[in-house]
Amino acid sequence: MFNELGPIDRSNLGDMPVEEFRHHGHDFIDWICDYFSEIESYPVLSSSEPGAIKRRLPGAAPEKSMEMEKIFADFIEIIIPGLTHWNHPNFYAYFSISSSGPSILGELLIAALNINAMLWKTSPAATELEETVLEWMRKLLHLPEGFLGMMVDFASVATLCALIAAREKVKDLNIRVKGFPRTENAPSLCFYCSDQTHSSIDKAAIIIGVGLENLRKIESDKDFRMRTDLLEERIKEDLKNGHKPFAVVATIGTTSTTSIDPIPEIGKICRKYNLWLHVDGAYGGNASILPEYSGLMDGLEYADSYVINPYKWMSMTIDGSLFYFRDPDFVEHAFSIVPEYLKTVESQHVTDYMNYGIQLGRRFRALKLWFLLQYFGRDGIVNRIRETVRLGRLFQSLVEENPDFEIMAPAPFSVVCFRFNPRNETLDEAKLEKLNVRLMDEVNNTGKIFIEHTKLKGRYTLRFAIGNIRTAERHIRSAWKLIADCAEKLVHD
Ligand SMILES: *Cc1c(COP(=O)(O)O)cnc(C)c1O
Repeated sequence: MFNELGPIDRSNLGDMPVEEFRHHGHDFIDWICDYFSEIESYPVLSSSEPGAIKRRLPGAAPEKSMEMEKIFADFIEIIIPGLTHWNHPNFYAYFSISSSGPSILGELLIAALNINAMLWKTSPAATELEETVLEWMRKLLHLPEGFLGMMVDFASVATLCALIAAREKVKDLNIRVKGFPRTENAPSLCFYCSDQTHSSIDKAAIIIGVGLENLRKIESDKDFRMRTDLLEERIKEDLKNGHKPFAVVATIGTTSTTSIDPIPEIGKICRKYNLWLHVDGAYGGNASILPEYSGLMDGLEYADSYVINPYKWMSMTIDGSLFYFRDPDFVEHAFSIVPEYLKTVESQHVTDYMNYGIQLGRRFRALKLWFLLQYFGRDGIVNRIRETVRLGRLFQSLVEENPDFEIMAPAPFSVVCFRFNPRNETLDEAKLEKLNVRLMDEVNNTGKIFIEHTKLKGRYTLRFAIGNIRTAERHIRSAWKLIADCAEKLVHD
């Protein structure tokens, strides 16, 4: 019935021989060192056309073992040209992130150890290091006491977890067990954020079954902060109409302008109406490590949950997001399912992180954060973040000195929103948009820098985000010169 098993080729079993791993490992580290030394010679933004990389890759995996040299050559020739170099000091798009030596080395060990930190028992050091490092971070960030922290992959997931827990807290519903009520006049759940909030909140509305229609986008003020008068009005109106408000998401550092919602006032409203307050500090929350920014945490005493991404501004390798929650028992109640084969005798006395989130398996992310925090120390991280804030102010002042440009929003951190608006022309919004789209494309096509855009209350805006550990003042000055020169050429063409 079966073909006879042929002679077994021993070389086709087992892992790569350790000596070979050592050899390639050294080569890889050498390549990484060269990559960082020469990073400025790469174009920041890949100019790859859609489909170009796929066409160069074989349609099926190889049947026979390939030499590492050949695999690596393809990586250099096919993959690298299709990459946008997020580590490039002139990457100013989205939120500028970067990896750092200590976190890369931590990442290497995470991959080598390959432990799964789902239960305390599955690696006690992983759980206890995670608890410790998250408590270190809580203190470093000036986050009030009384939060348990855990690491998840991304902020979107932390926010989703927070809202699932918040949904369970709604009295008399018990959605975890019963699902959503199916009766005709069942109350509909609703929650609130500002019109500047990250799209992960909308995604959470989809996933938790509340629905986009029931996510109320509260208008922001002229500085893009949530209007708390409108928030309270809307809550009252919803209550009057028989809806069930259950949560508010406030942001420290919104995605477009990095505006900061008035957390204390929002917190008081949450208290008054018994709503879960989730604070999204994915980017801006990193700044609270600076003593001069510790006021960002005002109002966090009202928060039920909080998220901050050290991969966004602390140069920890992607991924890794810190999810803090005030009431572990409650989050556990929302998520916990413990099948027989995951029961342990220690569970009463230890933290089993699998009980506080979505997936079972968990990477040993705390290790790279531990390496990073110790290698740089608090002072090292503070200095680096403070320097990016200084560079942001510098960039803003360069924009302000040029009468053909305008600042589009306050810049509380290191992201500057601006646009080209030549003083000798009166252009309507549509023309200004076209002009700035062209400017952005021209600048990006040079391969020297990468910037992106947003829209602020209908107005097309360029965004210049600084956060890369390798970005220095000379980069900012030459980036600005490039933008200003391209702009001048555009009006003269
Ligand atoms: C980046 C960002 C997110 C999304 O973070 P992910 O880690 O990519 O899910 C959410 N909220 C804010 C404010 C952000 O800046």
